[in-house]
Amino acid sequence: MDDDIDFARLLASGIVSQLGEQGPDWEIGSVEHQEDDFSGTGDFSWSPTVRVEFRSISGEYESVGVYFVYNGVSLGDSVIATADGIQDHAVEMIPGAALPPCPGHHHPAVARVVDDVPKWVCMKDGAAHFSEDIVPGLQPGMTLAEYMRRHRVRTS
Ligand SMILES: [Zn+2]
Repeated sequence: MDDDIDFARLLASGIVSQLGEQGPDWEIGSVEHQEDDFSGTGDFSWSPTVRVEFRSISGEYESVGVYFVYNGVSLGDSVIATADGIQDHAVEMIPGAALPPCPGHHHPAVARVVDDVPKWVCMKDGAAHFSEDIVPGLQPGMTLAEYMRRHRVRTS
């Protein structure tokens, strides 16, 4: 069971839709474990890193890759790191765009852990003005395996 692969795919496609209509026309390409040589001897093994590739549907934007690294400790922090990476790529491709938009403001929302849950929040007024779950249904303290188990029950 590659829970981390499935989670990374869900996470990435969720974030692409959260970026909104102004965002790049990305679709998810390959989602794979990153092969890594930890030993320095050419002895390759699987790392806990998943690489997600984004491809532009129109071809207007270049393909980019982001990483999802789950160390088993804090799923929230892992989600934030990936959200930051996707946001950085999006803003780089569409300079000046508020991605994702903060409703009623001209700036983007930022990814933060709020009450143990990863959210997009207003960069100026915080969750009091705007907050949206990055991973719908992710509860405080839930592990990746627990989340995927519940997700599969909900969607099967
Ligand atoms: Zn705001």
